Amino acid sequence: MKFIYCPICGEKLIDRDSWDEGPVPYCPVDDIMYFDTPKPCIVVAVMKGKEILLLKQNYTFKNSKVLVSGYVTNGESVEDTVHREVKEETGITVGDIKYLGSDYLASKEIIMLTFMARYVEGEIIKSPEVDWAEWGNIDDAMCEMSEDEIGKRVVRKLLKEIGYNGEKAYRCDI
Ligand SMILES: [Zn+2]
Repeated sequence: MKFIYCPICGEKLIDRDSWDEGPVPYCPVDDIMYFDTPKPCIVVAVMKGKEILLLKQNYTFKNSKVLVSGYVTNGESVEDTVHREVKEETGITVGDIKYLGSDYLASKEIIMLTFMARYVEGEIIKSPEVDWAEWGNIDDAMCEMSEDEIGKRVVRKLLKEIGYNGEKAYRCDI
């Protein structure tokens, strides 16, 4: 986000040169530079045997299942975010977290950090912000995630990681 006014004191920001970045909006009152940075967000495919944890959140996609996702909060590592979001949204504890790369979402200025993780323990107890949460067969995941393009990319990477050598899981991936 490109700031014009200081979000702390309301002062109009001035340009200040940063070494490599060129002019950056700066608040002389608070002595803070406001770099035009994206918001970091995690998305994680949780595996339990051949099953994957899928959610429905009607406020995101009405007719599509999605993976667990959420914003990174100040004070935590992105691995902490993965643990916290899966726990908050589904009650599940995960481990063996593996980073699968990132995706930039221009429309929302979000940098999506993608992960896979393994189920450790817990029954599904969904949070109120989740409309539905269940284990689904990995073979059907991409068919059920029709609208979630980033989620499907994560599943594609996951299939490679687990050495999936069938074709069934890709049948809806056009
Ligand atoms: Zn300020």
